[in-house]
Amino acid sequence: MAKDKHDDIRPATRLVTGGRRPEWTGAVVNPPVWRASTHLYEDTAALKEGKKGNRDGRFFYGRRGAPTQWALAEALTELEPGAAGTVLYPSGVAALSGALLAVLKPGDVLLVTDNAYDPTRTMATGLLKRFGVEARFFDPLDLDAFADAFCDRTRAVMLESPGSLTMEVCDVPAMAAIARDKGAVSLLDNTWASSLGFAALKHGCDIAIQALTKHVGGHSDLMMGSATAAEPWHTRLRRTAQALGHVVSPDDAALATRGLRTMGIRLRQETESALALAEWLETRPEVGKVMCPMLPGSPGHELWKRDFTGGCGLFSFLLTTDDDAARARFIDALDLFGIGYSWGGFESLALPVDPAFDRTATPWPPAGWAGDKALAIRLSIGLEDPDDLRADLERGFAAMENT
Ligand SMILES: *Cc1c(COP(=O)(O)O)cnc(C)c1O
Repeated sequence: MAKDKHDDIRPATRLVTGGRRPEWTGAVVNPPVWRASTHLYEDTAALKEGKKGNRDGRFFYGRRGAPTQWALAEALTELEPGAAGTVLYPSGVAALSGALLAVLKPGDVLLVTDNAYDPTRTMATGLLKRFGVEARFFDPLDLDAFADAFCDRTRAVMLESPGSLTMEVCDVPAMAAIARDKGAVSLLDNTWASSLGFAALKHGCDIAIQALTKHVGGHSDLMMGSATAAEPWHTRLRRTAQALGHVVSPDDAALATRGLRTMGIRLRQETESALALAEWLETRPEVGKVMCPMLPGSPGHELWKRDFTGGCGLFSFLLTTDDDAARARFIDALDLFGIGYSWGGFESLALPVDPAFDRTATPWPPAGWAGDKALAIRLSIGLEDPDDLRADLERGFAAMENT
């Protein structure tokens, strides 16, 4: 339900104006927190009328939201060229499960990228399997193998670019086109780039999913997810989310909307700092490979340059050592980087990761990189001064030496 009058404005401006309808905001800048389960009707005729038209902007009952949630959904829709609407979910994982359940049925085959977010893998081989869906994994960098993986039961493809932990950028436009050609729905986990960095629907994807927990929230204090699509998928997503009872609290929606307003400058700064640190890490003798889409030589960097309009602060690197205790010393010595899951907040995080164990389509790391026991670290770069972060990482490297 993007407003026509906004069709010609740019994403940075949309971040500021999105969802701010006067009838939702009243006299203040952002929509207030509407706490609501019951919506009251004037009379029984209005109650009857209320059942017609299941869409945002129409009061019905709390499960269909109120202006606080509608404003966030509308702002996200306005940021995704080609979208008809956005459905909000209580977490990023709920958005992934909600979208997959909206498109799949028993007997279907789902193709999943081999570098998918780990809970996506677990969902495909666990929950979805119980409902009769067969998951098959594909190498994100092998377009021919991807095309060959389709069969007459392939109903959907789950893409993620760059992939979790190993950060390969894949040829999403080509893959979405192949999927469409074969009659399959393409879903993209677009959490890394957000719609600011990658226009998922314009590049041919059917459903663009984001963990709003990350960049949109941006302050490590809320969990939320979204799925944005054109019709008919938007209506399918909406009906399925309503059937599953997915709702988001108005308090969290207000926080997410507040986060969205500054997302552009946060992403720009995090991208700049991350690239500077990635370039520096590449020069360190302790580092074998830096996996950062913005960095030349990183897998799929050319595709990132071709298709993306932005980056973010999340990347990984491989150590040359296979000594797990040395990796632990590195991470434990960091003062400014917190140790924890999630990412995309204003504060930097470091995490030991072992992507090799999650791969089933093709072995990882690729030949010529490092040994089987290649140890990786994932960094989420926040808004601290990058020189301070570099000094912190230097402390980590020094600690690796001291046994
Ligand atoms: C974190 C993350 C999710 C899940 O989001 P939650 O809000 O934590 O459930 C999904 N996809 C990717 C790529 C993520 O990094």
